[in-house]
Amino acid sequence: MEPRRQTPGPRSVRRALPVVDTDALHDECGVVGISGVDYAAEQAYLALYALQHRGQEAAGIVTFDEAGPHTLKGEGLVGDVFKTWSLPKLTGRTAVGHVRYSTAGGSDLDNIQPITARYAHGHIALAHNGNLTNHYDLRRRLVEEGAIFRSSSDSEAVVHLIAKSRHDTVDAQIDDALTHLEGAYSLVIAIDDVVYAARDPRGFRPLVLGRKDGGHVVVSETCALDIMGAEYVRDLEPGEVIRMENGRVTPLRSLPPADRAAPCIFELVYFARPDSRIWGISVDRARRAFGRKLAQEHPVDADAVIAVPDSANSAALGYAEESGIPFELGMLRHHYVGRTFIQPSQDSRDFGARMKYNPVREVLEGKRVVVVDDSLVRGTTSTSLVRMLRGAGAREVHLRIGSPPVRFPCFYGIDMPTKRELIASSLSVDEIEERLGVDSLGYLSLEGMVEAVAEAGPYCTACFSGDYPAPLVDVEKGHLTPEGPGRC
Ligand code: AMP
Repeated sequence: MEPRRQTPGPRSVRRALPVVDTDALHDECGVVGISGVDYAAEQAYLALYALQHRGQEAAGIVTFDEAGPHTLKGEGLVGDVFKTWSLPKLTGRTAVGHVRYSTAGGSDLDNIQPITARYAHGHIALAHNGNLTNHYDLRRRLVEEGAIFRSSSDSEAVVHLIAKSRHDTVDAQIDDALTHLEGAYSLVIAIDDVVYAARDPRGFRPLVLGRKDGGHVVVSETCALDIMGAEYVRDLEPGEVIRMENGRVTPLRSLPPADRAAPCIFELVYFARPDSRIWGISVDRARRAFGRKLAQEHPVDADAVIAVPDSANSAALGYAEESGIPFELGMLRHHYVGRTFIQPSQDSRDFGARMKYNPVREVLEGKRVVVVDDSLVRGTTSTSLVRMLRGAGAREVHLRIGSPPVRFPCFYGIDMPTKRELIASSLSVDEIEERLGVDSLGYLSLEGMVEAVAEAGPYCTACFSGDYPAPLVDVEKGHLTPEGPGRC
């Protein structure tokens, strides 16, 4: 007799899925969408080039014309993925592009965005910046309903939600899919040559609308508009969904408003480029304001203010302006640093930092220096830098941080390590001071930081305050630990 075959019920499907998928991706990224612009691929390339700081692991562009979608994706920097001979193959006046930061899940090409698929209403290309906080919950439900996932990215769930929507129009399908999402998303979705752009109701991640040669574009940051020669129109509102077709913009609708908007303050602290405007504020001006506040809160007698280049340059200038202590170039940053296969045979303790930074001995010798950094995460960079500065002759090293202690993991798309690895989650400021070997340590207060950029907000300050504005569904349901998604 044939053995009875067991039909897998929902329970066994559930058991087959790991409760915590450590391969999950955290999408700290940059996105672009283009409609009605000649040579859209070239424009998308320029935008991604400007957004390179938002993701260095992989890049992709999908364009559309009558011949259908044209896709080029690959690992590496934008300049490595797209070549002068490959870019012109991406024909059309519609494009979606993406740069990605993290690579959990290994070098799987399926994880590179834009995610592409074909469904009943056309070809989809989707680019996502942010992180869905109900990703595992959605994925589990979709798998139980028969969906087959090709990647470990949370963004793929959105593609499945669009494809399985029972509404008859694409507008309604997009709308329907978005209502299932929780957490952080700035999305650009092309369905054939129609581009949709959406921000989650709390507006965690930026998305900006621009005008270019009779068409329209959406990009993560205004620095991308500058390089494209596009004119800034406005930021998309939290919860706003628009459609771009043949270069024309149609507002679709606003998603039900959240209890409060929560743009990420860490974009201003570290992530965005200082020549961009985020949340209507110049990032450079915001960081200078952080630096000025920091000088008021933690003054010190010193001979020079130096920055950990480049992310802390603006904050260090603010500190110098407020304190009257001269700003000096005490450290240089190697701009072309990438992955290296060279491992020194001994004394590799500071190797990573040495590859990236080098002190200027003439500036430091015998001096009392204030070193300004934008944030302390694990504390490993600073530990190496302090040793390096002392080695170059600095007499006193006073570390000043242009943001409060990072104590909590980010579930909304900033690539942070798990809680356990955050130096400030387990050590007090005094203990960190001792661990880093500095003469003094001062963090900007949470109140001081928020006050310095009071013209926008209220912000998401979860990584500093532990106050999470959007429900952490996957944590609540036990799919993910409160330790956080962790660095990939
Ligand atoms: P560490 O304390 O060694 O983990 O490094 C902190 C430095 O990394 C800060 O000076 C920031 O400039 C930078 N940083 C902060 N957040 C991130 C992030 N999410 N990804 C990469 N670098 C970061």
